[in-house]
Amino acid sequence: MFSESKPDKASDFQINTAQLILSEMASQAIADGKRWFPDTGKNLFFMIACMGGEAGEAINIAKKIERGDTTYFDKHIQHDLREEIVDVFTYMLNVVHLLDMDLIEEYYKKRTFNEERFGRQK
Ligand SMILES: [Mg+2]
Repeated sequence: MFSESKPDKASDFQINTAQLILSEMASQAIADGKRWFPDTGKNLFFMIACMGGEAGEAINIAKKIERGDTTYFDKHIQHDLREEIVDVFTYMLNVVHLLDMDLIEEYYKKRTFNEERFGRQK
């Protein structure tokens, strides 16, 4: 969405648009979670644990690439890794909802913090 040639900070229009899109995706993920996991969809620990589990599945694929068992250029590996990243994102949307947080706003706050911490010229 933001390339290196674009301004360092998104415009208010871009932020508002991203918030709307993310909100719509979150509503869908939450509705799915209620249907798919009726007993655990509102359990913050469960949702965070699932998000971590999916990240672990992505790490396991990355491990296989790193040790040379396969490469990212393998179409099946690309497919599987991308699916795991989407799984992480889906659970993250549920966690964001349960924490009642504005992910876009929090992202920019944290980005500013990280820029001050890591972005200085060395
Ligand atoms: Mg998965």
